[in-house]
Amino acid sequence: MKKKILACLLILFPILSLGIAKADTEKTKYVIASDSSFAPFVFQDSSNQYTGIDMDLIKAIAEDQGFEIEITNPGFDAAINAVQSGQADGIIAGMSVTDARKETFDFSDSYYTANTILGVKESSTISSYEDLNGKTVGVKNGTASQTFLTENQSKYGYKIKTFSDAASMYDSLNTGSIDAVMDDEPVIKYSISQGQKLKTPIAGTPIGETAFAVKKGSNPELLEKFNKGLANLKANGEFQKILDKYLASDSTTTSSTADETTIWGLLKNNYRQLLSGLGITLALALVSFAIAIVIGIIFGMFSVSPYKPLRLIAEIFVDVIRGIPLMILAAFIFWGIPNFIESLTGQQSPINDFVAGTIALSLNSAAYIAEIVRGGIKAVPVGQMEASRSLGISYGKTMRKIVLPQATKLMLPNFVNQFVIALKDTTIVSAIGLVELFQTGKIIIARNYQSFKMYAILAVFYLVIITLLTRLAKRLEKRIQ
Ligand code: GLN
Repeated sequence: MKKKILACLLILFPILSLGIAKADTEKTKYVIASDSSFAPFVFQDSSNQYTGIDMDLIKAIAEDQGFEIEITNPGFDAAINAVQSGQADGIIAGMSVTDARKETFDFSDSYYTANTILGVKESSTISSYEDLNGKTVGVKNGTASQTFLTENQSKYGYKIKTFSDAASMYDSLNTGSIDAVMDDEPVIKYSISQGQKLKTPIAGTPIGETAFAVKKGSNPELLEKFNKGLANLKANGEFQKILDKYLASDSTTTSSTADETTIWGLLKNNYRQLLSGLGITLALALVSFAIAIVIGIIFGMFSVSPYKPLRLIAEIFVDVIRGIPLMILAAFIFWGIPNFIESLTGQQSPINDFVAGTIALSLNSAAYIAEIVRGGIKAVPVGQMEASRSLGISYGKTMRKIVLPQATKLMLPNFVNQFVIALKDTTIVSAIGLVELFQTGKIIIARNYQSFKMYAILAVFYLVIITLLTRLAKRLEKRIQ
């Protein structure tokens, strides 16, 4: 067993380290991670651009202090992970300063003070925490609201349901699968001001100051620049302007002005974003499948080799990869390994979500392809190999000239099948914040709550693309046969 584990680490390590190049020490640009939807702090406007207090603030500070930023919006939980694993230098996401977080983050000066508050449907009869007994409260994973709910759960006897993004949480409240949500007060109040049919029957509870954060001990100069910039913006009135823009009662920054209630309106307003998501999905599927075929064939050939060590290596590879859920594999590669490397070397890993997603998908498909290759070769009667070898023809030549041509024909339909599975599996890696087609849809829903129509659009997108690609593959298959 120990040998097996050692061998699989030996196999995995070179593959994983491919994506990890040396990080440069001198920083000219900072990667800032944020939430995907946390209006009025961060959200997409009707032209699909990220705006909000946090976005305006970090941009103004970067300009004031003369540094460049690249913003990613993977969602709160994912943004926290990104900073912890060194994928991002800082996080600005309406983040509350809590004692627990001070253990792992360094915080800037505060720029806001927020409460957490309970939101229920307008028609709900819940009017106190006691009324929550036996009911289900939704909350975003990793948030201060979640901590509050967990701490008070035994007192009030509610069930907690955790969500990775705001869209699915508010959707669940609208459809009645949860009875209440817990979120930052400005966020719920803002969505009410935007026409959401919610109310807040109980007064909010303080959860701390809102601030910008970096991983504890890293990027101290960034924190310093943030503080200086914030002070400057406060002094020159710029900061107040940003707050007023999003919080004033007559604020006109509606998150969605265009008609997004019809399928046509949704498509018209979001087609660019959807096509770019589709592009990422296709790139992920095609690149990872191409890599998977190479790795899969190598391990597949190993598994029918006359040499036992090769067979053993192939067996371990297939067992390990098939035994780990794809989502965990992706999270491990994107967050786990960089976190580990950073803690050892202090170097930030430049491996991005696309590379991590591609590696995870490649490894996953490769394990299944190895099995397809093994099955295909095994399906060719052994007599053929024996007959050929007894005529004095070498193993390699027999493989190439006699066994493989027949085996390939048997494998082809399975390859097509595996490709379709790989394409569908791209949705799973959206968990690491990669904005492929599925994540694109979720971000759009976070803005307009049109989950029925949006998911229908996504389903049709996948259906069309998979049907087209399968047809194409079938045609290729026929030609080869
Ligand atoms: N203020 C809350 C927290 O820090 C929620 C932040 C968010 O969801 N973006 O936990």
